[in-house]
Order: sequence, then structure tokens, then C-alpha cells
Amino acid sequence: MSPNRDLRPMLRSFMLAGIAALSTLPAMAPAAASAAAASAAAAPAGEVSLYTTREPKLIQPLLDEFTKDTGVKVKTVFVKDGLIERVKAEGDRSPADVLMTVDIGNLLDLVEAGITQPISSKVLQDTIPANLRGADNQWYTLSLRDRVAYVAKDLNLDAITYEAFADPKWKGKVCIRSGQHPYNTALIAAMIAHDGAEAAETWLRKVKENLGRKAAGGDRDVARDILGGICDIGIANAYYVGHMKNAEPGTDARKWGDAIKVVRPTFANDKSRGTHVNISGASVAKHAPNKENAVKLLEYLVSDKAQSMYAKANYEYPVKQGVKLDPVVASFGPLIVDPLPLTEIAKYRKQASELVDKVGFNN
Ligand code: FE
Repeated sequence: MSPNRDLRPMLRSFMLAGIAALSTLPAMAPAAASAAAASAAAAPAGEVSLYTTREPKLIQPLLDEFTKDTGVKVKTVFVKDGLIERVKAEGDRSPADVLMTVDIGNLLDLVEAGITQPISSKVLQDTIPANLRGADNQWYTLSLRDRVAYVAKDLNLDAITYEAFADPKWKGKVCIRSGQHPYNTALIAAMIAHDGAEAAETWLRKVKENLGRKAAGGDRDVARDILGGICDIGIANAYYVGHMKNAEPGTDARKWGDAIKVVRPTFANDKSRGTHVNISGASVAKHAPNKENAVKLLEYLVSDKAQSMYAKANYEYPVKQGVKLDPVVASFGPLIVDPLPLTEIAKYRKQASELVDKVGFNN
């Protein structure tokens, strides 16, 4: 093959990369030109490193789509535990660009550990409501995980407040997982934020008195125990219902899902009638070597296409308005989110956890 023929694809790359680059070509030796061409061709796309605690199967389809649409390669590191320790240990040579996790507590922990940086993006700020991102632009919500009432299918109940779970009429009828699980400490923190610490304590004591069984197990077990007649109502995340009601007919999961309906609780004194949500979200790493692509990935993840994929993969609720929902999720009706900023609610997490011990909720 002649050197001239070799150069042709490179020249095309240079033309794509810009005429300025092309003008320097004749002065270069073929090998240098070839290297320059490769980097010039790669530069517009490049790569991005994602460190995530999320289950690979949930987010991989989104990342594949991102690469298909933008050309940016995603290097994914799934970190089950110790995300902060790992990034800290890597220090300013950390290859991490984007840090992704679930739960507001975990996101704030990243910020407090000093491993994130503020990102000013009009796309992110226009798409994600202010109560669902850091005021300091250090973290952004990507999807919502509403904490709802599971209600026995035939029960005549289509509205409830979180406060009403303390009503003595539900004595022995309420199921819920451990009070110390982050899903519940976040909810109890929201109760403190809305009603004050004293009212939240009284509430928690009364909910404890209403339990049909020990506060333990998982969220799906609430549906299982409603089917089993142990409870009539419970509190758990909505996305599990998406999984259960979409499960194969005849499976346990499907039977549990079919035994319940979802009612989105509200707070008694909140006129906007918002429901408590937890989130999945992400930050850009402090030492991100590919910051531009990190922002590009976050912006992609709140696009219509990615948001609708998100909402289908794990039945989470899109953070973006007007995105097509999974039919089961759509059947719960539109989600109105508690207007209190998540950072405000998260301030009470520790107090909430102490309250769980104080009232012996799990005993
Ligand atoms: Fe979960």
C-alpha cells in the first residue's frame, strides 16, 4: 500500500477535525501525522469513567445508548461498597469522572467527603427541580423512588396521609421493613422536617403499635404479607410494585404484586399534597479527567430517551416531566413530589435513626 493511499483516511479525519489541523499536515512525518490524526479523530468523542453503586443490568442499556448517540465510550466501574474510600485513595489521579449512587444520604456523603465538584449546566438546572438537586450544584437527581402505601387490593382506600399510619384503626394491620433502613430513616426524617421532632416521635410510637409483625424484611415482603393476610396496609417503594406486577404470571412476585394497589401518601399539613421520594443521582468527581464528557453524560441521562429507559428498567419515576411511563407505573397516577428540598430533609437523618432506637421500633 502506498503512503499516499494510507494518508487518505487520515486526511478525511483532519478535514472533519478542522481545516486548521489540515494545514499542518504537509509538514508532518507520516508517523506523527498518523498519531495526530488518531487523536484528532478521537478528541471530539473520547471517553468517560463512571463509578456507580447501581446494579449493572439497570444502567448498562442507558450507557450503551449514550455511546451509540455520542460516540463517547463509557468505562464503568461497579463499586458495591466503599465508593468514597476508593475515590479518596485514588486522590487527584482518580480516573473517575461521574459518581452515581442511590439515596440522598449517599449523595450527600460524596459531597461531604470532598470528592465532587460543582457543575453549572443549564440543561440539568432546567430539567431537575430545585428541591431535587444540590443548591451548590454538587449533585443532581436522575430518577425518583417514591415511598408509597401498599394497600390490600379490595380495601376501600384511595387516599392516605403518612400521619394516618398512626391511626389506631390500623392496629395490627401495618407492615414495614426495619426502621433503620435508609428508605425509612429518610421517610422519618421527612416526618421530622414536616411535623417537628416531637410529633414525629409520637407518630413513630403509634405506628409501632399498629405493626402486624416485626419491622423487618424487605419492601416486597409488605406485599407478600398483605397477600398472606398479616397486614392490610404498609409502606414501601413504588418501583418494587412495577417489578412485581410485571413479573411472569404464576410467580410469587406476580401474586404479591396482584394482591395490592398503590396509594401515594401525602403529608397532613402540606397543601401541595406531595409524596416522599428518595432518589438516584450523580455528581461529577472532583478530579474528573474528562469533565466535559461527565457533564455530557449527566445531561444525556436526563434526556427524554434516557429518562424513559430509566423509568422502564427499574420502574423508577422520571425526574423529567412528561416522559412516557411504564403502564404499571402510569396506573399509579402522576407523582407529585414533596416540595421540601431533599437536603433539608436529609439534615434529620441522624435524628431519625436515633428516634427509631428510642421508640424501639424494630424490637
Ligand atoms: Fe430498593
